Amino acid sequence: LNAIFSPYYNAKEEIDGVVVVLQDVTEQKKLDDMRKEFVANVSHELRTPLTTVKSYTETLMEGAIDDRETAMEFLAIVDSEADRMAFLVRDLLQLSRFDNKQVRLSISEIDMNEFLETMVRQNKIHAEAKHQELTFEPYEKEVIIFGDRDRVGQVVNNIVTNAIKYSLDQAKIKIYISEDDTYYKISVKDTGMGISREDLPRIFERFYRVDKARSRAMGGTGLGLAIAKEIMESHGGRLTAESEYGKGTTMTMWFPKERPVLEYEQEDAGA
Ligand code: ADP
Repeated sequence: LNAIFSPYYNAKEEIDGVVVVLQDVTEQKKLDDMRKEFVANVSHELRTPLTTVKSYTETLMEGAIDDRETAMEFLAIVDSEADRMAFLVRDLLQLSRFDNKQVRLSISEIDMNEFLETMVRQNKIHAEAKHQELTFEPYEKEVIIFGDRDRVGQVVNNIVTNAIKYSLDQAKIKIYISEDDTYYKISVKDTGMGISREDLPRIFERFYRVDKARSRAMGGTGLGLAIAKEIMESHGGRLTAESEYGKGTTMTMWFPKERPVLEYEQEDAGA
């Protein structure tokens, strides 16, 4: 609570009392704290690769450059740290476009059976590298959703990539479609490490990772699901997760069956 005191004067300009205004600042403080934490996170995430780049460059300049093999090895590290910073900036920019309501969606009708078939074909190579089985069972009937193909593809890719990353070799990853009265649901179910009950509600937060070191080592920025959630909400849908620790996770994208009226839709969309 915030209290503001001001004197109350009577007709003779004498102080007659005090007016106290009480303001509830809990909500504002929470937002403030979140913003501070976000800035601290961004700084840390940028500083980590920068420190690595700096130390390898210094070692190179101190003489390591004369040994070609070592030099190449160090430069490869510098190169991948630069990639990491670029990914982080790309993700931050995309989030800030959502925050500033500058996102423009180009909505068209997407045949999900066809779309997911293609997505699976593109991701198969990553699953096969870990001897995982990635499958899609086409739905028994035609499923048309209203979406921005690139953005919807981004969400599917993010979820499938996570399923592959956070599952061990030999895991099974299954994509399937279901529906209720108002939504088509695209689910990605894995038999991976799962997420504990305490972590589960937090995985959509910016920079939240169950295991920071592991996620970073696998190239994650910790922003993927936060962006995926924004994308789903901008489509009038949502993104949910169910998981059992040690057993596996199911991520579900919900798309409204009726064509939604969208805040971010491009004027000429569908034309
Ligand atoms: P990251 O870049 O770290 O993968 P995400 O926002 O995509 O960031 O995911 C946030 C965190 O949620 C991950 O770091 C991971 O701990 C957890 N997570 C996401 N998907 C899965 C999954 N299929 N199985 C287990 N954990 C997952």
